[in-house]
Amino acid sequence: MAQDSMKQYYMELGIDEKVYDFCNQIEESLKDRFNEIDKTAEMNQIKVLRAMQSAKLAEQHLFGTTGYGYNDSGREAVEEIYAKVFKTEDALVRQQITCGTHALSIALSGNLRPGDEILSPVGRVYDTLEGVIGIRESKGSLAEYGITFNKVDLLPNGDFDYEGIKNAINERTKLIEIQRSKGYETRPTLSVARIGELISFIKGIKPDVICMVDNCYGEFVEELEPSEVGADLVVGSLIKNPGGGLAPIGGYICGTKECVENCAYRLTTPGLGKEVGASLGVTRNIAQGLFLAPTVTAASLKGAIFAANIYEKLGFKTVPDGIQERYDIIQAVEFGKPELVCAFCEGIQAAAPIDSFVTPIPWDMPGYDSQVIMAAGAFVSGASIELSADAPMKEPYAVYFQGGLTYPHAKYGIMMSLQKIVEKGLIVW
Ligand SMILES: *Cc1c(COP(=O)(O)O)cnc(C)c1O
Repeated sequence: MAQDSMKQYYMELGIDEKVYDFCNQIEESLKDRFNEIDKTAEMNQIKVLRAMQSAKLAEQHLFGTTGYGYNDSGREAVEEIYAKVFKTEDALVRQQITCGTHALSIALSGNLRPGDEILSPVGRVYDTLEGVIGIRESKGSLAEYGITFNKVDLLPNGDFDYEGIKNAINERTKLIEIQRSKGYETRPTLSVARIGELISFIKGIKPDVICMVDNCYGEFVEELEPSEVGADLVVGSLIKNPGGGLAPIGGYICGTKECVENCAYRLTTPGLGKEVGASLGVTRNIAQGLFLAPTVTAASLKGAIFAANIYEKLGFKTVPDGIQERYDIIQAVEFGKPELVCAFCEGIQAAAPIDSFVTPIPWDMPGYDSQVIMAAGAFVSGASIELSADAPMKEPYAVYFQGGLTYPHAKYGIMMSLQKIVEKGLIVW
């Protein structure tokens, strides 16, 4: 009875009975998996709540300051909470940090000096960081300040190249950049446990090197964060996991007192550091977003697993596959054909709360060597913790998607993607 009225709701929203039945059967098989994710979310929820209580977060903290922002107690409380959640000495959490790339750029430029070298022991860094570091020539890059970069790729089987890493560490190596999520690379995402092993190995060779983790898309996916296994700095964006969909802007840097202080002097100015930076009334959203982040991340993870199982069953390659452990919220599906990619994105768009009436089409996006199609209908522009998908229009015609503020919405978006594919006759059942 309840099941029938549920089906009715979906049919009114444009989902065929066959798509509904197929997807729901798959969902039924995922209950144990979803249970595990809920347990992780529960632990992380308690972790966040405890941090808020022990920092004595109070109603007066939620209002914010203007101008210089001296003595902004709400801003200070939020930073104390982040430090407690990530188990670090200090934290910088600001809306003046415009995005994840900016947070990473501050962490690098704040802690490096001319002559220093950055080492990535996990291969290529995120695309936008290539500009920051100067791997791709760009104005104002770290390379212009005499900071060099080196990388060691993972071995073909995905293991760390310990020998190569040992050989690459030299007297100029000042900072190790470890990207947790695979991002849009084909390598596996790193678990926190593996990051811990890597950091121990590196600190065994050079104890005073700064180990920084690009934590984007990884927050709250596991019970531990990289800062609990030896990272000196963890860095990320508030319009991804830790903003919980409510933070309208911002980035965070958590780490040792000294490293965070260096970042603060770079973000504002030498001498002023953390003391300035008005919160302009955004503190409530940042704090409430962090409060919701564990369950929002869980919703995204469930959506990703649901999609992997659906599209795998239909014969497509999915990365990660339907049963693999998850260490970030990104899901890739290789469709092999441009029409399938477009239909998938149309479905995600049609299911969005915002701009559901527009049709995404491939376009020539600056900086890409092929056309790109994007589906997003987000409350916060560009927020990838909200259900969103994008794909470069080239072989192997893979769609990358992530996010979902609630599991029912992620589920509906994925059902709608299949509905569009079915309607266009692109798969034969
Ligand atoms: C998103 C992301 C970034 C950059 O964040 P922006 O907010 O897009 O600037 C860096 N590294 C990884 C792994 C990311 O996923």
